[in-house]
Amino acid sequence: AHCIRAQFGEPDNIAMMAESLDFYERFAERCDLDQSHSPIGLRQQGYLFASTKAADRSAFSDRIEQQRRANLDDVELLDGDEVRRRWPWLSDEIRIATFRQRDGWIESHRAIEAMAATANVPIYLDVAVERIRVANDRAQGLETNRGFIASDTVILAAGPFSRSLSPEPLPIALWRRHRVIVGPNPNIPQDGPVTIDANTGAHWRPHQGGALLAWAQPERDVEAVWPGEPDPGFPDLILRGTNGVGRLAPFWLEIARTMHLGDIQLTAGQYTMTPDHRPLIGPAAATEGLYLHTGYSGHGIMGSPSGARLLADIIVDGRVDVNPFSPSRFSGDTPPPDVEEVVL
Ligand SMILES: Cc1cc2nc3c(=O)[nH]c(=O)nc-3n(C[C@H](O)[C@H](O)[C@H](O)COP(=O)(O)OP(=O)(O)OC[C@H]3O[C@@H](n4cnc5c(N)ncnc54)[C@H](O)[C@@H]3O)c2cc1C
Repeated sequence: AHCIRAQFGEPDNIAMMAESLDFYERFAERCDLDQSHSPIGLRQQGYLFASTKAADRSAFSDRIEQQRRANLDDVELLDGDEVRRRWPWLSDEIRIATFRQRDGWIESHRAIEAMAATANVPIYLDVAVERIRVANDRAQGLETNRGFIASDTVILAAGPFSRSLSPEPLPIALWRRHRVIVGPNPNIPQDGPVTIDANTGAHWRPHQGGALLAWAQPERDVEAVWPGEPDPGFPDLILRGTNGVGRLAPFWLEIARTMHLGDIQLTAGQYTMTPDHRPLIGPAAATEGLYLHTGYSGHGIMGSPSGARLLADIIVDGRVDVNPFSPSRFSGDTPPPDVEEVVL
């Protein structure tokens, strides 16, 4: 949903997202563009994680403490009354929430276009990579539908297709993820934050007079596919279901009652999930010259500016002192634990 947040729980993720948000905040300056407005549609209307369970207070304050220790000191703990004072359309049932104003969203296609326009590198469109050529465990280049491109340095950053393109197994599972766009409607507050039901995961945010809605439903691992095939029952589930967005923002139930199918756009893409929900950034385990920049586990828009900087440091300097996202973390006998439980 083009959302960006530093409100994570685990220090390495917080550092990655904070660096990326800083990049997006200073995008115009960094890309030498007109600084009078955000060229990427950055909106910092905040991220609200809200719960209807009073017992979540201690987990939420622990998380804020963890964030402070990781130098993220602007996350607020809000009780239900304060939540409703700021956003009167939210439910009386909300007991506790965390909020960070500097989180929000961008228009990521504009960021990509601006970066492509300012990057001093050749970019080839409509070229399909068929195989990464490897000889004697060394990357040789790319076999494409337009011929061979020789290179002894190859970066695999093909999103869900990284797994099938990789010459070696990658610890990535592909999960379908839906997105619903609801067209303009005067009853959808446009000044609200990204509102996340911390108890169910259903979330929404304002979008061009309407809204973007998403939800992490349990899915099984599938092959990479584009475009994804959405489940036609999803809009009903997220808009009308008891655990959908109407639970915390009851106005959705009223909108859903009067809405026509034509007011909705439904799409599905794929999350590239690693076992610890962190990306794979750095040299591949068994193929010299091959670098991975993939496996963002649903957080690639918010994490990739920092991840790309890290990978550039690794390639240019040959190594970095600390790389918490190194693919080699999965090569030992005991894989790292899943340290970041909130995946949206
Ligand atoms: C519904 C949904 C909502 C999401 N919401 C958010 C969000 O709010 N915030 C967030 O941070 N992240 C979000 N994500 C995740 C985010 O979209 C990904 O993490 C991010 O796009 C990953 O970037 P990437 O460059 O690794 O892969 P991709 O964006 O998939 O880019 C890979 C590129 O490689 C190209 N490619 C693939 N195979 C080949 C080939 N064989 N030859 C040539 N080119 C190839 C593709 O065309 C594509 O351009 C969401 C994902 C989904 C599905």
